[in-house]
Amino acid sequence: MPEGHSIHRLARQFQDVFAGQRLSVSSPQGRFASGAALLDGQVLLHADAHGKQLFLGFDNELVLRVHLGLYGAWDFGGDKTFAGASSIGAPRRIGEREIQRARTGTPGEIGIEPGSTTDPEGYAGPPEPKGAVRVRLVSGHGWADLRGPTACEVLTPAQVATAIGKLGPDPLHNCPGDAAAFSRRAGASRTAVALLLMNQQVLAGVGNVYRAEVLFRQRLNPWLPGSALSAQRLAALWLDLVLLMRDGVRDGRIITTLPADRASPAIPVPVGEAHYVYKREGLPCRICGTEIALIELGNRKLYWCPQCQASGPGA
Ligand SMILES: [Zn+2]
Repeated sequence: MPEGHSIHRLARQFQDVFAGQRLSVSSPQGRFASGAALLDGQVLLHADAHGKQLFLGFDNELVLRVHLGLYGAWDFGGDKTFAGASSIGAPRRIGEREIQRARTGTPGEIGIEPGSTTDPEGYAGPPEPKGAVRVRLVSGHGWADLRGPTACEVLTPAQVATAIGKLGPDPLHNCPGDAAAFSRRAGASRTAVALLLMNQQVLAGVGNVYRAEVLFRQRLNPWLPGSALSAQRLAALWLDLVLLMRDGVRDGRIITTLPADRASPAIPVPVGEAHYVYKREGLPCRICGTEIALIELGNRKLYWCPQCQASGPGA
């Protein structure tokens, strides 16, 4: 599932390519036909993210709320103007992975397939919808297709406030009071900190990768209850997430290792050097050499170093 940084990048992408434009909104698949009719022909005013949820606000005050969940993804395409408007390189698809339009146009994993209708040189409007397109947004210069979301609905401003009110603070907003709100929620709970970090009501946007990595970076035992952590430890945890996730928005990927802890100085950071513990089970810890361990916790895989993260809250 994409973590919060990917959804914030998506919001930025929508803001760049569609804000201020009147959009045709449809549901080629039909499942969202009545919702699409409420938004069709309206101007997109702003795009925001909170945690893993995307909110697209239109000038009739209605808001499209989308949660991609495990299988959802957006595709984008358009002419040169459309691609040029994107500050993040017009991602073609954002799910667990993000595919960027290659600046050189080289075909391949990050390129444009030859002859694709997403090729800005030969743009002639959106392609025929393929598969189950829940929502299609079309401007004069480009389009976006949504497939497979967990949630896709039209909300009033009051309903948006309710939806966001159910979520904890988002480290990527880091508004005044957010760090304290996180400390209060986490510090009052006897639940293991590894589970608290995945609870979107405690804080919003963290998924399995940031969870494992920030616990390692903070040398925290994943099973410590939130209530065992001092205010200083909770504040440090929050601040580390703020910094890591901001980097994630900038880079379009999650990199948590410090240069000194990588075996290779290569830039861009190789996939195998980007993390301390995530998907490194059985490999030696970058700090102490102990084998990284893997267990199931809350139906999700938790990666950790039994040596570096063995200690209690006072250590
Ligand atoms: Zn270690």
